[in-house]
Amino acid sequence: MNPFSPVPPSWTESAVHAHQFDCPRCGAAVNKAKSVWINRRSPVYTEAHRRKWQEFYHCGECETAWWAWSSDRPPTEWSGAKEDENPNPFGI
Ligand SMILES: [Zn+2]
Repeated sequence: MNPFSPVPPSWTESAVHAHQFDCPRCGAAVNKAKSVWINRRSPVYTEAHRRKWQEFYHCGECETAWWAWSSDRPPTEWSGAKEDENPNPFGI
């Protein structure tokens, strides 16, 4: 699996927008996802001129596909790293 593939995986077609950074159906955390796809081809610029993009997750617990904005991801140990220097914050 390549989370940065230019071609969206088929499971992303049914993804629902999650307003919290976990599965909207069963509440499983991001690290329970069995697949990840990050849509870095079409970033959106926020009010603060920071880029954000859609991150798609395929829940490994209930098979729900969901997505959320990268800017909504909770702070991690990588917070503060420049995005361009850290294109793969999940270490996948
Ligand atoms: Zn789930």
